[in-house]
Amino acid sequence: MDFSAFGLSAPLLKAISAQGYQQPYPIQEQAIPAILAGHDILGIAQTGSGKTAGFALPMLEQFRNRRPARNRFVQALVLVPTRELALQVATVFQGFSMYLGERVKTLAVFGGVSINPQMKALSGTDILVATPGRLLDLIQNKAVHLSEVEVLVLDEADKMLNLGFAEEMDQIFKLLPSKRQSLLFSATLADDIQVIKEKLLRDPVIISV
Ligand code: AMP
Repeated sequence: MDFSAFGLSAPLLKAISAQGYQQPYPIQEQAIPAILAGHDILGIAQTGSGKTAGFALPMLEQFRNRRPARNRFVQALVLVPTRELALQVATVFQGFSMYLGERVKTLAVFGGVSINPQMKALSGTDILVATPGRLLDLIQNKAVHLSEVEVLVLDEADKMLNLGFAEEMDQIFKLLPSKRQSLLFSATLADDIQVIKEKLLRDPVIISV
């Protein structure tokens, strides 16, 4: 199987080659068509499985031709447990955006650093990759609004729960529009992940690699 089989557009295929990816990993083979078709996803996958490209590529394809976001009304939210993962995931989105021109802007925000530069940088952001606590701070400061989010990703959701972010996550979920696509990734399918699955996902495609 080849990346061109997914119907991804030329600028994305060019970026995929530039990243040195030759063939999709199994999770990508399953996730990319399902996400492009608009389905919700539950992906049981470890770090190293290639899950990041599995959601980033179809999201960028969907956002490529969309009208720009109203300023500070992000169109996609990727929630992650740690600053390291926030930076890593945003770098993947940015790498695959290299031939999309200025059209799609991805930004990572996380705690432990000053909030002011992040508030400024948020201007014009389409895809926001965030840790839960800092995201809530930014929302309180009216630096970002979630009411127009079309795609929600929870990456390493089990780790987010293990780090004690359940309450912050619930507060964030309440701010999201109900009409959206939701993608949930976790290394395990523990009971608390089942609860999130029931609460957030509509008729999900379940992927296990
Ligand atoms: P992830 O599980 O998303 O953190 O990805 C793990 C590693 O695999 C990263 O270094 C990716 O750049 C790499 N990777 C993901 N998909 C592919 C692919 N289809 N071909 C080659 N490398 C890949």
